[in-house]
Amino acid sequence: MNEQEILVQKLQEELDACKKELSDLTLDQQNAAKLLIRRDLALSRANEQLKALDEAKSKFISVAAHQLRTPLSAIKWILHMINLGQFKDEVERQDFLHKATESTDRMISLVNDLLEVDHIESGKDHFAFLPVDCSDLISAVVSDVSALAEERNISVATDMKAQAKVVGDSTKLRDLFQNLIENAIKYTSPNGTVRVSSTEEDTCVSIVIQDSGIGIPDDEQDQIFSKFFRAPNALKTQTVGSGLGLFIAKEIVKRHGGKIWFESKVGTGTTFFVNLPKVQ
Ligand code: ADP
Repeated sequence: MNEQEILVQKLQEELDACKKELSDLTLDQQNAAKLLIRRDLALSRANEQLKALDEAKSKFISVAAHQLRTPLSAIKWILHMINLGQFKDEVERQDFLHKATESTDRMISLVNDLLEVDHIESGKDHFAFLPVDCSDLISAVVSDVSALAEERNISVATDMKAQAKVVGDSTKLRDLFQNLIENAIKYTSPNGTVRVSSTEEDTCVSIVIQDSGIGIPDDEQDQIFSKFFRAPNALKTQTVGSGLGLFIAKEIVKRHGGKIWFESKVGTGTTFFVNLPKVQ
């Protein structure tokens, strides 16, 4: 090989090396571009999620504020009338003071529900799991709601057959049963009946709360566990409620690894079923 040929070969080798480097760089650039597109997509998705969260938060605040405004306005009006000395009759004054107390209770209950929802959603909610006797809890709840049942002339019968305990947080489970039993009483017309029973299955305790009340319309049933949802037939009954109870109930059951569902027919009644894992 003469000198010229050696030079040409060297140049050719350098050219090949440059080509290889260029092709590697192009590949790197393509990979970087793909990565950027992926990051961009992930950022857009995160942005949309943040927007949805922001909208949900705004809706939450707006609904909560509206629900608080009604009882607050009622209290303001009653205080104003008292100030003006408008209630001449003592019985009438007492009656309005009683209404103001009811409005205050309503606000406290709503604020408690709102705080509970906030705890659930921010993951701050603390559960202390221990063996719990559901029959004892349900008996305590039934005793607590007896005044409400009497006031509405509704009979509440219990048939607690389950012997086994469940693994649960007794405070949260009490809230759960209280909500379901109070709803059963609240959404049942006077002279109606509510039956609460428990049975034991292979792996769980099954609790059934059945009422002879107004029922839940078919086309509203899929929304019943959503935050703030109240069915139109429930709103018509003039009952007090936040529409948060069943959302909280579902979360409590979920945290216990259980299941909650219902069957309902308008005008006939509603049955809620709760299955909770039992202590083996
Ligand atoms: P609240 O009772 O405060 O409105 P909940 O979250 O406990 O809120 O219930 C949501 C809605 O589900 C109620 O407003 C009502 O429309 C419906 N609901 C719940 N329980 C019953 C029941 N036992 N019978 C009929 N409707 C019910």
